[in-house]
Amino acid sequence: MPKDLYDVAIIGCGPAGLQAAIHAGSKKAKVIAFGKAYKSSLYKAHIANFCCHEKVVLGKDILETGRKQAESFDALFLEEDIIETTNENNLFSLKTESGKNFTSRTLILSMGVARKKLGAKGEKGLVGRGVSYCVDCDANFYKGLDVAVVGNESAAATGAVTLLSYAKTVYLICRKLMITDTLHGQLKNSQVKIIQNTWVKEVIGTNEVEGVLLKNGEMVKVNGIFVELGAKGAMELAANLGVVFDAETLNCIETNKKQETNIPGLYAAGDISGRPWQIAKAVGEGCVAGIQAAEYAKKFANS
Ligand SMILES: Cc1cc2nc3c(=O)[nH]c(=O)nc-3n(C[C@H](O)[C@H](O)[C@H](O)COP(=O)(O)OP(=O)(O)OC[C@H]3O[C@@H](n4cnc5c(N)ncnc54)[C@H](O)[C@@H]3O)c2cc1C
Repeated sequence: MPKDLYDVAIIGCGPAGLQAAIHAGSKKAKVIAFGKAYKSSLYKAHIANFCCHEKVVLGKDILETGRKQAESFDALFLEEDIIETTNENNLFSLKTESGKNFTSRTLILSMGVARKKLGAKGEKGLVGRGVSYCVDCDANFYKGLDVAVVGNESAAATGAVTLLSYAKTVYLICRKLMITDTLHGQLKNSQVKIIQNTWVKEVIGTNEVEGVLLKNGEMVKVNGIFVELGAKGAMELAANLGVVFDAETLNCIETNKKQETNIPGLYAAGDISGRPWQIAKAVGEGCVAGIQAAEYAKKFANS
């Protein structure tokens, strides 16, 4: 056995990874977690729908508190990305970006998803201040306001329809809609205003979004813009381990109710295991994965 063997290694320090570290640590497992808090989806978010937080709470604060809690259970944190993972002889080996190597009896994948960006001028600076990548998360902030959804596929179409229950006006900006007849029908019978054959050139606003300038020269005044281009998961590391992906989306990891993947000792939790992309789901799955991994490691150590 390697000298410095961990019971539970966790890739990702968002809410899923932190909760996994708290629960695995509370079971007295030797835990190490990798990742950078500022890269979590939660870091720039303002949260109003997470149980027990009645007022809007900053995602950054949740992450800071979660890390302190996990550290109080002796979990170790390393603010580095993992660039390589292998699984040999029932042990997981991990290599960090600075070349450090670690070995663990179990591994929890909680790397979240990389939300696809528009790449439009002004977009980056206004994330969390009118630019959103998640209708389910932020629709509630736009009650009675004007919003635009950008995208060509089902995520954008369904997002636009959902927003009708909140916003005053909903625009759907697309190059060409590539959606099913059912969704087409839904949009046609709805109040969504479709602007086709164009795209967003620039997101306008100083402190918050004031509108979008389109490539056709049109200026659309809105308070919020939802980028719904679907998501590409942080899947390369997982694929290297031979993980089975969800057959329908192919961009999230398939797990059972114990958050187990198809590989013994390997778990997945949070956004990486599918929608809804919400903190409540991430911490719930992190809790289950942390407990399961700690118990698996204990059995393995005693065998
Ligand atoms: C603008 C915005 C607003 C949102 N609002 C809400 C809301 O109101 N309510 C709600 O419930 N949810 C909201 N969400 C969603 C919520 O933030 C996510 O569901 C949640 O953060 C998912 O947690 P996670 O732990 O799965 O992934 P993340 O929080 O994304 O964490 C992923 C972690 O993995 C790490 N990582 C990735 N690759 C590697 C690697 N190779 N090596 C090491 N580490 C790696 C990252 O550094 C990061 O620490 C919002 C998201 C956004 C973007």
